[in-house]
Amino acid sequence: MATNIKDEPMEVEQVEARILELCLGSVKGVTDQQLQTLIPNISPTQRVTAVNKLLQNGKIDLMKSGSQLVYKVKDPDSTSKVKGGDNQEKLVYQIIEESGNKGIWIRDIRWKSNLLLTQVNKILKSLESKKLIKAVKSVAASKKKVYMLFNLEPDRSVTGGAWYSDQDFEAEFVDILNQQCFKFLEQRLELAADMNVDPAARMNKAYATSLDITKYISELGISKVELSVEDIETILNTLIYDGKVEHTIMATATGQKKLYRAMRQITQSTGLMRTPCGVCPVFKDCKEGGIVSPSTCVYMKDWLDINF
Ligand code: SF4
Repeated sequence: MATNIKDEPMEVEQVEARILELCLGSVKGVTDQQLQTLIPNISPTQRVTAVNKLLQNGKIDLMKSGSQLVYKVKDPDSTSKVKGGDNQEKLVYQIIEESGNKGIWIRDIRWKSNLLLTQVNKILKSLESKKLIKAVKSVAASKKKVYMLFNLEPDRSVTGGAWYSDQDFEAEFVDILNQQCFKFLEQRLELAADMNVDPAARMNKAYATSLDITKYISELGISKVELSVEDIETILNTLIYDGKVEHTIMATATGQKKLYRAMRQITQSTGLMRTPCGVCPVFKDCKEGGIVSPSTCVYMKDWLDINF
């Protein structure tokens, strides 16, 4: 029913409370346009003042959603999850939370919290038993663990990605993937060679995208973990360095595609021509005593075995 009663002017605190209420009621956040429509009885100055106060007091955040800017309620104080914990426990939880999915070493927790090792150990055990945090083994250093929030998926730099299992490099798995990727590209090359088209079209038909190869590997069911296109591109890169595959980039309407093709050896090159160092991507870092060195290099060993 229409009413002739004029809306009472709102105080800044009331405007703030109303904006906060609207933000709380929308998971996606609220745009400035929506605020104007939903609180029509305030002036633009009142709205801007209230929004600025909420932003300054850390009650809401201004975020980008698609092409729009939206106001969202800030996460409630996460340390409130540490029920029954004292301030030290809350501090350690906060430090671990800040480290995100890369986690944090116990040494750094001690340094940031200024607590004794025995205290930190006790707190970590308590937080672990409450399932608020977890310890994850890092591939960066054996026997070392990093701590992160319980519900987080560890970053690839911690787990080593698909190529590591319990910190061990899965050399056999990588070998099998290497062979299967190459087999797929070889089959493509053979199919293309039999096509009754001009040579340029035949060359193009031999190319496959990294997505095609990822789908093929996934259908083979040889991997227990789900492999991403980037994982398969890492394997394809090893084939490129081995001189078995070449790749090109094709521009598309939405960006670019990486295309791969098996290479056919027309003539067998001489042993000296096939030295692995010529195409080695870590050539500059290779030295005796370094992370990579000729005496520990598997490519160099293979080359020596074949040629001498
Ligand atoms: S020895 Fe191995 S690691 Fe070193 S440059 Fe040659 S191929 Fe690369």
